[in-house]
Amino acid sequence: MTFDKLGLSPKVLSAVSDAGYTVPTPIQAGAIPHALQGKDVLGIAQTGTGKTAAFVLPMISRLEKGRARARMPRTLIVEPTRELAAQVEENFVKYGKNHRLTVALLIGGVSFEEQDRKLERGADVLIATPGRLLDHHERGKLLLTGVDILVIDEADRMLDMGFIPDIERICKLIPFTRQTLFFSATMPPEITKLTEQFLQAPVRVEVSRAASTGENVMQRLVKSGTKPWAKREALRDLLRAEEPELKNAIIFCNRKIEVSELFRSLTKYDFDAGALHGDMDQRARMAMLSAFRDGKLKYLVASDVAARGLDIPDVSHVFNFDVPIHAEDYVHRIGRTARAGRSGKAFTIATKADSKHIDAIEKLIGKKIEWHDGDLSTLAAEEAEESPRSGRGRSGRGVRKAGGETTKRRSRASKDHDDAAVQAEAPAEAVEHEPVASAKPHHDRKKHGDAAGAYGDKAKERKESRHRRHEDEDAHAPIGFGEDMPAFMKIAVRA
Ligand code: AMP
Repeated sequence: MTFDKLGLSPKVLSAVSDAGYTVPTPIQAGAIPHALQGKDVLGIAQTGTGKTAAFVLPMISRLEKGRARARMPRTLIVEPTRELAAQVEENFVKYGKNHRLTVALLIGGVSFEEQDRKLERGADVLIATPGRLLDHHERGKLLLTGVDILVIDEADRMLDMGFIPDIERICKLIPFTRQTLFFSATMPPEITKLTEQFLQAPVRVEVSRAASTGENVMQRLVKSGTKPWAKREALRDLLRAEEPELKNAIIFCNRKIEVSELFRSLTKYDFDAGALHGDMDQRARMAMLSAFRDGKLKYLVASDVAARGLDIPDVSHVFNFDVPIHAEDYVHRIGRTARAGRSGKAFTIATKADSKHIDAIEKLIGKKIEWHDGDLSTLAAEEAEESPRSGRGRSGRGVRKAGGETTKRRSRASKDHDDAAVQAEAPAEAVEHEPVASAKPHHDRKKHGDAAGAYGDKAKERKESRHRRHEDEDAHAPIGFGEDMPAFMKIAVRA
């Protein structure tokens, strides 16, 4: 199969060929012909499968006829995060080079005025995150009644982020005669319900199970004690050992606060690291991403939400500083490496407290992951004892043990123990490995939990989404106190 068999216009084919692609990926071959015929498509595909081009190419072909009117975009693409939205925009630049399309990006964290000017001029393509889109609509600056093609991308991630009520609202603001192209890596019941409600006789194209992990990724588990400093030490050892083969690496943490802490610690140890999480402003995030993409930065410490779906083609290593709580996140994380036929390595730092999550991952991927240098039973006894599940008191763990052991551990970790990041260890450790969704801070639990409960309760739902929209679009709340931790809890406990 070659691209010219799919029915795309000559101008689009020429841009695809200039991009260096001749053979469509399975999601492209499956979705493009139907999308060109105006049918609804339900694409079950994860990032890395070429799914962006699967909707961008037919859209450009179909946009050749007609032109944009002020404040009435002709097509709309909804993305869960600002980075993904920006990435889709890049695809329009690449594949739309032979067209004169106007593309407007409506994302949080940048000024309304400039976005407003673009809307005023008229957009062929509007790429938006849900909150900012609805804000513009509520201000009366945007009419969605002219949208002919609606794309909902990464729907399962929208669900994770509490955006489903917003997506429902958006779908209802667009004429039902539209064409809908809907993409999700997985199909949990809420997403199935959404597709039943808003897609009309969709063609289902499923390319690979979310559970499959690339065969060209070498995966290893690396044993570590449970303490954050022990994990950081394990990571540093690994980074040094892998140095000869390591071109660049993404290091995943489960929570934003850990991203900041690990970033500070790595920098302190002279690792060329940057951080990516939902609390950073848009400009800082984009700068960080391009520095990493361009090879100016070797290590990128990131949270799942910030890194999900990002197209960084040439990552040699992935390190899981934390074992992901959701097994599917493991697949997404290690999918950052070994892209486009390359090979890669994925190391997961595992402690005794992680066995349950490792079992779930191995079940999902259908194979056992080998241990790098002996399994957890080969851990030194002192380290292995530090499991949070061991039932000992929270504040006294480790530090109040017999002097010799404590001193040894302190000296090994002395550099870490000096920095501010480590002062937060005691409280952070207490909530480590809790599922993110079930352990949000009180105020946030209300925000997200109520939104789910109010599914269908329009007034409440609107209020909820208004609150949410004023936040970072992709900021998953930390668990425990997060960064609002009272100062007294950060004071290190002395033996
Ligand atoms: P996506 O799944 O959209 O994030 O795309 C993943 C990567 O695949 C991107 O770097 C694309 O540029 C690349 N890609 C898209 N289509 C093709 C194709 N037909 N052949 C090879 N690579 C492609």
